[in-house]
Amino acid sequence: VRSPLDPSQIQYSSKKQQQAVADIVEQLTLDASTLKGIKDHFVQEMRKGLAKDGETIAMVPSYVLDRLNGTEIGSYLTLDVGGTYIRVVSVNLLGHGQVVSQHKKYKIDEELKTSEAKLLFVDEHAIVVPLETELELGFTFSFPVKQTGIDSGTLITWTKGFSCPHMVGKDPAAFLQDAFHRKNIPVRVAALLNDTVGTLLAYEYHHPSTVIGLGLGTGCNGAYLERVERIPKWKRDPSDPQGEEVIVNMEFGAFDSERQVLPVTMFDNKVDRKSMNTGKQIFEKMIAGMYLGEITRNVLLHLADRRLLFSDCSVQWEMNRVWAFDTAYMSTIEADNSPSLKATQMVLESTLGFGSELDAGRQRVDSSMATTLVDREIVKMVVQLVGQRAARLAAAALAGILEHTMGVTWQEDTGASIGVDGSLYRYYPSFRSDILDGLDAIFGLEPKMKGLCRGESGEAKIRMGLNTEGGGAGAAL
Ligand code: BGC
Repeated sequence: VRSPLDPSQIQYSSKKQQQAVADIVEQLTLDASTLKGIKDHFVQEMRKGLAKDGETIAMVPSYVLDRLNGTEIGSYLTLDVGGTYIRVVSVNLLGHGQVVSQHKKYKIDEELKTSEAKLLFVDEHAIVVPLETELELGFTFSFPVKQTGIDSGTLITWTKGFSCPHMVGKDPAAFLQDAFHRKNIPVRVAALLNDTVGTLLAYEYHHPSTVIGLGLGTGCNGAYLERVERIPKWKRDPSDPQGEEVIVNMEFGAFDSERQVLPVTMFDNKVDRKSMNTGKQIFEKMIAGMYLGEITRNVLLHLADRRLLFSDCSVQWEMNRVWAFDTAYMSTIEADNSPSLKATQMVLESTLGFGSELDAGRQRVDSSMATTLVDREIVKMVVQLVGQRAARLAAAALAGILEHTMGVTWQEDTGASIGVDGSLYRYYPSFRSDILDGLDAIFGLEPKMKGLCRGESGEAKIRMGLNTEGGGAGAAL
């Protein structure tokens, strides 16, 4: 849990420094009415996406119809291509919400993210399963895909630093199936789904009131349960499975790429410019784990370049390198409550190399420089601001989905559950409580939703929890 730093408690070394920090605080703080404005626009954009293809938020029906009832059983394989890892899981669904699974996880090589897709799908070192009978596989593919059936779809665009050529417009499930055929592996790709759809299903297996699945990791996105009649654009063939409710993969990371309501700062613009998909996924770039460290780095260098932070802005250290400030460092700094901010000092000096310099043999040797306590306090302040803003933006999206579905797929008296997955939600110390604060702030301005989140009247009606099953169970379900 965060012990918040108050900007007015810092012993600034100059008035100019104090003014510069105040300016950053103002740029990165989102008050309740700004959040409500973002939420209102989000709801409008959701409705546009449900009406027509090609809108900013894709709102893709997943072909996963109706709800689970906990009796689902069977053995399946699942494969999950996320932003950072590929996971292979063998899943046994035992019914009554019981799942037994075995996992294997591989880090995706940086090179593979941008090379021919064939390589991503047919890695020589990847799984070879000795099987006698054909197994069904659920394929979680965490990128925007327009589904054409439960086991097929086409890639709309790459995100999260991937850009394998010749894949956009193609079916990732067919690529994978093809790879299995070529290797004579008797596996049938029976389902293709987004990770957020999987999260919703896995959480629903344990919590039947689940109506939303959120992904807050390298990227960000959400899926939710929708009434089919509220999706005017979805024309199904009579041969398609019928049902009254369907899970929609929203692809909300693309929200407001037009920048109508998001308070995009110069620090966000710098991230956007250095990213592989400039101009796209602006909302994702303000929220997701891949980008938060880089936003923070931009703010810190902005202060350093004006000689308002760190003693020497020309120092040779890791911080000068794009993407060098990992979002995981932010978690460490957020959790650092020691009076001298020791862990923050470790990150800045030992990990990133401030206070040492390169000798002729390019070895790091100590110099006389070190960070001051004020430096570290300002760093912590900036980290907090960037993390909190991300969580509050995620809350605006969540509030929009809840408003749109209240009284439709969930009722005020029984409430709704939200399953969440992803490294940011799992490991970032204050992310969950900042989302809840954000929801409270927005709902405080909405008479019909007031008190639903952390309720004045005892039990919260909106319940949010971590998907403890990981990705596999959802794809199997
Ligand atoms: C992708 C989504 C995915 C999310 C979280 C985004 O970049 O577009 O499909 O759900 O990341 O993994």
